[in-house]
Amino acid sequence: MTDSDRLKREVLAAVRDQFARVDEISELNTRKVLDAMRDCRVSAAHFTPTTGYAYGDIGRETLDKLYAGVFGAERALVRTQFVSGTHALATVLFGLLRPGDELISLTGAPYDTMQTVIGHAQPSKGSLKEFGVGYNELPLLNGRVDVDGIKQILSSRTKMVLIQRSRGYSMREPLSIDDIELICRTVKKINANIVTFVDNCYGEFVETREPIEVGADVIAGSLIKNIGGGLAPTGGYIVGRGDVVEQASYRLTAPGMGDELGATLCDGRLLYQGLFMAPHVTAQALKSAIFAAALFSRLGYRTSPSVEAPRGDIIQAIELGTAEKLIAFCRAIQSNSPVDSYAAPEPWDMPGYDDQVIMAAGTFVQGASIELSADGPMREPYAVYLQGGLTFEHSMTALMRTVEEIQSEARR
Ligand SMILES: *Cc1c(COP(=O)(O)O)cnc(C)c1O
Repeated sequence: MTDSDRLKREVLAAVRDQFARVDEISELNTRKVLDAMRDCRVSAAHFTPTTGYAYGDIGRETLDKLYAGVFGAERALVRTQFVSGTHALATVLFGLLRPGDELISLTGAPYDTMQTVIGHAQPSKGSLKEFGVGYNELPLLNGRVDVDGIKQILSSRTKMVLIQRSRGYSMREPLSIDDIELICRTVKKINANIVTFVDNCYGEFVETREPIEVGADVIAGSLIKNIGGGLAPTGGYIVGRGDVVEQASYRLTAPGMGDELGATLCDGRLLYQGLFMAPHVTAQALKSAIFAAALFSRLGYRTSPSVEAPRGDIIQAIELGTAEKLIAFCRAIQSNSPVDSYAAPEPWDMPGYDDQVIMAAGTFVQGASIELSADGPMREPYAVYLQGGLTFEHSMTALMRTVEEIQSEARR
């Protein structure tokens, strides 16, 4: 047995309990999705693409009903016309907020692209700020939501609060569903009219309950992350209270049109089968993250979350400590990808970021971060953010080879 095989065995033995928990969650979520599919009487007729206005597109209508069922919500808007998660999230914001209203982020500074949508950190064209929507944010307290500070930050103009479930690309911990429940309850106790909006990106199926089930009014996310199961070719979703989703639908299309038109241009099967696969694929990504945490912590690197910590999203951060190691990590992941394995990623000046960023993404669907991918900003502590993995076997292979690359980089 080689040293590498021995290391792999030790790591697999160390994560056995965590993997068992992931399998349990995946089973419960699979049941949830299956039962929603049975309730909706899904059949092959729902997979047919449509054209033009697509009035009465039963595939589109049933998919909306299915998502609403899975998330325990009144209504859903699932569309390939959403170009990304940011687009779906922005549709909720612009659909509901009016001049003079105020949005409050309760989870500190939001995800980079959302800051551009909001437009308060830095001016941006077409932003909420340009429309006269106010904004404020509650800073995190030791990396956690300052629940006691919520009352002070809400004002009479506050129409909506934004709650980001995932860590995004920061070192803070993701929120648990229990955290989300407490936050929503706290907000509603202060003012029941405030809309509680959860950015659900990277969080779907990581736990057995979803934000709507614990008091969120509306959630939104991307189909090329967890919920698309690796099969959805593009798109986003908005799910929640009937009146809120309806209001958002008029922003996606036009007043009077809402969710009643919009052609299904792709093979609808990919959206349905992707949802069916999503609990399992999310479990594969979680196992990849846990394995990475165990492997790299054994080698002496700080990881966040740690191996044992409960998970709220599929992201694994590993502090590599040097620029050389960060580059070697991303290059090794890229060269062990099924697509574009021959490409060598380089740090580059990404729009909207202060430091250079390096990214590895040899994915079937462009930019799909439910597929194995890694990225990180070129600054201390040279942390790499790893996410995805359609199959754990692929992630394990890629990670073991990455360790070999990093160790030979360290010897150089
Ligand atoms: C991915 C993500 C988004 C949306 O990003 P897109 O690339 O537009 O899909 C928003 N918020 C969080 C926390 C995310 O992880």
